[in-house]
Amino acid sequence: MGTVAGTNKEANGSLLANKKVTVVFVLGGPGSGKGTQCANIVKQFGYTHLSAGDLLRAEQNSGSENGTMIKNMIKEGKIVPAEVTIKLLERAMVESENDKFLIDGFPRNEENRAAFESVTGIEPTFVLFFNCPEEEMEKRLLGRNQGREDDNIETIRKRFKVYLESSLPVIEYYNAKGKVHKIDAAKPVDEVFAAVKAVFA
Ligand code: UDP
Ligand code: MG
Repeated sequence: MGTVAGTNKEANGSLLANKKVTVVFVLGGPGSGKGTQCANIVKQFGYTHLSAGDLLRAEQNSGSENGTMIKNMIKEGKIVPAEVTIKLLERAMVESENDKFLIDGFPRNEENRAAFESVTGIEPTFVLFFNCPEEEMEKRLLGRNQGREDDNIETIRKRFKVYLESSLPVIEYYNAKGKVHKIDAAKPVDEVFAAVKAVFA
């Protein structure tokens, strides 16, 4: 294509065909602090935060036909088919006044990644990767009390396994393209945010 003006240059019938957006993927294991740090980034840098997990939970609670499937996948720590998650992300981006988005917790596997790129034509500007040891993530997940059905030790173990097997390869993919900013996420929130700020500044 002739110009580099559009981030989403080859949207295949995407809802986003007429909207140019900037996307940063925020990735890292369950409990690595993605949601917490995204809230900080929103305040300082004017992005809109889209948590794929939150969008799926909202869809589940809206009584959608996919509700039961989503509920079962989340309970098992499995990854919802890309087309479902992508529709929710696209809708949120179209409906937003903003054009800068943090997409948190997506893409979680190669299928998610490839489908998102081909459906929306969007390439992330960069990937923020929160790197955190499993013991620390486990402690945080068991300690946070958000009433989530997947924050129990059985599901947490499954989520870690899926993360290692399916999500880390996506981070590797972007790393090979020089797009990953790796953050030490085991530190206190304000220290992690100091490192995050340096990436966005
Ligand atoms: N999930 C999914 N696709 C996504 C994002 C989330 O299938 O793109 C499901 C998956 O089952 C995951 C759960 O939602 O284990 C919770 O994801 P979330 O990102 O909310 O958890 P976090 O990693 O932030 O603890
Ligand atoms: Mg989260």
